[in-house]
Amino acid sequence: MKKYTSLTEIQGELAQRQLTLKEIIAYYFEQITKNKHLNAFNEVFFDSASKQAEKVQEKIDKGSAGKLAGMVIGIKDNICYLDHKVSASSKMLDHFVSPYSSTVVERLLAEDAIIIGRLNCDEFAMGGSNETSFYGTVKNAADEERVAGGSSGGSAVAVQADMCLATLGTDTGGSVRQPAAFCGAIGFKPTYGRISRYGVIAYASSFDQVGTLTSSVSDAALLLEVLAGADEHDSTLSSLPVPSYTANLSQNGKKKIAVLKETIENDVLDQETKEAILIALEKLKGQGHEISYVSFDLLDYLVPTYYVLTTAEASSNLSRYDGVHYGYRNTQAQSLNQLYKVSRAEGFGEEVKRRIMLGTFVLSAGYYDAYYQKAQKVRRLIREKVEKLLEEYDMLVSPVAPTPAFKIGENVQDPLVMYMADIYTVLASLAGIPAVALPLGNNKEGLPLSIQLMTKHFNEQGLLSLSYHFLKKDK
Ligand code: GLN
Repeated sequence: MKKYTSLTEIQGELAQRQLTLKEIIAYYFEQITKNKHLNAFNEVFFDSASKQAEKVQEKIDKGSAGKLAGMVIGIKDNICYLDHKVSASSKMLDHFVSPYSSTVVERLLAEDAIIIGRLNCDEFAMGGSNETSFYGTVKNAADEERVAGGSSGGSAVAVQADMCLATLGTDTGGSVRQPAAFCGAIGFKPTYGRISRYGVIAYASSFDQVGTLTSSVSDAALLLEVLAGADEHDSTLSSLPVPSYTANLSQNGKKKIAVLKETIENDVLDQETKEAILIALEKLKGQGHEISYVSFDLLDYLVPTYYVLTTAEASSNLSRYDGVHYGYRNTQAQSLNQLYKVSRAEGFGEEVKRRIMLGTFVLSAGYYDAYYQKAQKVRRLIREKVEKLLEEYDMLVSPVAPTPAFKIGENVQDPLVMYMADIYTVLASLAGIPAVALPLGNNKEGLPLSIQLMTKHFNEQGLLSLSYHFLKKDK
């Protein structure tokens, strides 16, 4: 079977009866088996996915199928799906079965998507290389000695190696965009408050957002249309109406685009990535958009602010894993205190423990003002600066990551090197604005390159339309 890159193609063939859902699902199962060594899936939902395929095929035959009929999608292993395991790639939740479904899963199923399995990720979504997973590293299909990116590494490789049509990831500080960039996929993170977090295992609640990894902008638009919008279970959600992103994809006026100068003229940026971005900017100019360079002098503050705030939130969110309520429990402990301590010491991996300790430190009485509160103030400044820029410009541009996919093992021993690699993605997360990673082809070694576009709160439509036109093949 050929590689499908959009649901429109699949639905066209399903409607013509050139293809059945049984064939599609069999194809993806085969692809998963063939690519098992890449370690993208923590579990394949053979039974429930096959049953759903039969059910949806009947609906297609009757003409009553939903918008996502024909879509085979994988979900990151931190998104809850009733009666299915969910582990956040942690020993802490190994074997844990979800007693309910997240809102995103319910919305996917309500529109007849088929959920094919749960995807490997960094433990509790903490990481940028998928090397902190309890289930092992995910390999990049473009070069198996290289990382897939993270934390949604499995979600990226599943799309890259055609193991399903699309995937969901979560993005707290870049975890959808950066792995998408490393694997040549389109990684879309909406505005904070656009998609429900209900049933998504929390890392840093004022940052976490569900996002999509796809091969086409139209699929990103369609998924957003299905997933976005108010939910009584998540009070941080906006009640703004959800536009028909797909219907409006082709509208596209001339945009004022600002390139964040310090992100491009920066020693950390890989030369070929820079060249690819400059070519992309020429293309955007050729498409009639106005390109300017603006200064963003807060760049050095982004990573520290992000890590103070997210570790603080993580230390609070992860306090629920105490060996008592659910998850891993040490059975030899002699006292309650020991039970907490040993269960947490054994259930969490090194990176998660590092962050819990860091977060506990910045929240502690003597350091709260100096770190946590200060970081909150800096976050406000960053957000205001971004909002101001976006009053004048429609879009902001930066790289997604300083380098293409790095080698497995290259950065994992040095957390600071790993954290610094988030320099370009955490801006949109701190400001809560939507952002997308778009593929720019490969470098000389065959590794995917990427560009990031960002826009104002709730302007997903503008971002999707621009991305659509930018990536559209010239006739
Ligand atoms: N790499 C970043 C971190 O480690 C982003 C993670 C994410 O977005 N979940 O926190």
